[in-house]
Amino acid sequence: MDRIYLDNAATTPIKDEVVEAMMNTLKKSIGNPSSPHRFGREVRSFIEESRILVARRLNALPSEIIFTSGGTEANNLILRSAVQDFKIRRILTSPLEHKAVLETVLDLAHHRRVIVELVRLKEKGIIDLEDLDQKLQNTSLPTLVTLMYANNEIGNLLDVENIGATCKKYGAYFHSDTVQAVGYYSLDMSQLPFHFASASAHKFHGPAGVGFAFIRKALGLRPILTGGYQERSMRAGTENICGIIGLAKALDLACLNLEEDKKRIEALKLYCISSLKQALPYVVFNGLSDDMVRSIYTVLNISLPIKDDLLGFELDLKGIAVSQGSACSSGSGKSSYVIDALSDPKQVENTTSLRISFGVFNQKKDVDALVLALKALMVQKGL
Ligand code: PLP
Repeated sequence: MDRIYLDNAATTPIKDEVVEAMMNTLKKSIGNPSSPHRFGREVRSFIEESRILVARRLNALPSEIIFTSGGTEANNLILRSAVQDFKIRRILTSPLEHKAVLETVLDLAHHRRVIVELVRLKEKGIIDLEDLDQKLQNTSLPTLVTLMYANNEIGNLLDVENIGATCKKYGAYFHSDTVQAVGYYSLDMSQLPFHFASASAHKFHGPAGVGFAFIRKALGLRPILTGGYQERSMRAGTENICGIIGLAKALDLACLNLEEDKKRIEALKLYCISSLKQALPYVVFNGLSDDMVRSIYTVLNISLPIKDDLLGFELDLKGIAVSQGSACSSGSGKSSYVIDALSDPKQVENTTSLRISFGVFNQKKDVDALVLALKALMVQKGL
């Protein structure tokens, strides 16, 4: 049985060139990058070259890139340090954020008495800019706004420019979880209005367990991990050298082929939308995921008019991996808090949502197999 992977928003298959670069480093690197001898200096140079490469690809300064263990840690570092160092008293966010942001801000509310408020959503999960403006207007408390660039479940792209302008108007700090977007859009950090952003290598065909925080120059945050002076004293602990090499290689490759890959994946998503509409006329697309301009080209989220907690599992038995329910838990069957936040609870009760997410290795035949399998399952269930 062919195995078909359409869960790239959860993680992406690592590219051969990335594995090769990592293997070379594993074999070559003996020293601890903090050691002053030649072995250490050599390994340090690998890390610093990787930082320069990443910074160049994002038009950032090398000093603005802090390597972490992934997107979750990057979000934690930024949010917790900002509260600690900028005396942030209020965080504005949305119910559609990844748990790495939502649970962190709730923890800050609980333990640091930060006031957390959710910005109102308009139809399809669009952030209500007027509500954000009003909420920012109504306080003099130091505030941070955290809103993700591309939603990992429904694909919605943030109106970064207007949200950035609104934050600037009221002097609020702006963090964006860019985990799904890095490697998929040419992000120019010198122009984007973020103070902070986060990334994760396994979302752009790099290894899991490594990512980075973008912290704009001179913001002067202190670390949350202490016990060493690594990462310009922003993150203690001997660096994940091989992971960092893999991250830089993966980002470099993603950016090199960005336009070409984007065009191909976009065409695949469009093909999937039209094939699904034809085979399953009752299909509903969640959020903005079928809007080719306002959603990321890798994510499509659908609802089907039956309640079936095992649908993802049944597709898995047919060799097809998509995601059902909460983020990063394909086949778990639990309903998604993102879809729940978007929809009328009565409607959600009788529907099943699936996230289909594409990557550079997918082909039309993968979409054909998915649509065929879904159609067969729906017919079996009397639809
Ligand atoms: N933020 C978003 C939007 C994500 O999609 C993910 C991964 O699912 C994360 C953060 C967490 O990243 P990591 O798996 O590297 O900790």
